[in-house]
Amino acid sequence: MSALLVLDDLAEGPNALAFELRAEELELKDEFFAFPSGVETRVEVRRALDNFRIDGVVTCRIAGECYRCLEEVQEEVTARFRLLLQRRLATPEELASAEKDGFIEIVDPGTREVDLCAYIREAVILDLPMRIPTPEADGRCPHCGVEESAEPPAEQEREADPRWAALAQIEFSQPKEGS
Ligand SMILES: [Zn+2]
Repeated sequence: MSALLVLDDLAEGPNALAFELRAEELELKDEFFAFPSGVETRVEVRRALDNFRIDGVVTCRIAGECYRCLEEVQEEVTARFRLLLQRRLATPEELASAEKDGFIEIVDPGTREVDLCAYIREAVILDLPMRIPTPEADGRCPHCGVEESAEPPAEQEREADPRWAALAQIEFSQPKEGS
C-alpha cells in the first residue's frame, strides 16, 4: 500500500482523494509517541494540464504519557501539506531551485505516478506536539483530569491525598452506626 497519485487519472480542475495508511507503512517512529491508529489523508488535487496543486490534510492518533501524571493518553493530530507538482522538462537550475523552495516538485514528463507517502510522513512528524495533552485538544487528561489552562485547585489535591480519603469514609460511616 502507498499513497499513489496516478497523474493521468486526475481530471482537469479539482479532484478529491483519500488514502488510509498504517503508521508502519509510513515508518512513523517517535521517541515520545506511539501511533496506535491508521493515518488518514484527504487530498485535493487541482489539475491544470501538467500542473497539480496538491493540498493534503492528514489525521492520526498519537499515544504517549501525560506530562503531568505519566499515564497513557491519546490525542488526535491533524497535519497539512501543500505542494505544487509540475510535470515537465526542467533545467538542472530549475530543479535545484525547486528543491530549495520545498513546495514545488518538478517531475519528468514521462512520470505516471507520484507517491505522497514522504509528504504525509513529513507533515505528521512536523506537527507532533511537544507534550500531551495539548491545549488544542482541551488539555484534558482522563487520568488526572486537569485542564491545561488552570492549575490544579486545592480541592483536587486534597481528594488525591489518601489521609483525606480515609477521613471522608469515617465521616460517611458515622451516621450509619448512629442510626
Ligand atoms: Zn494526566
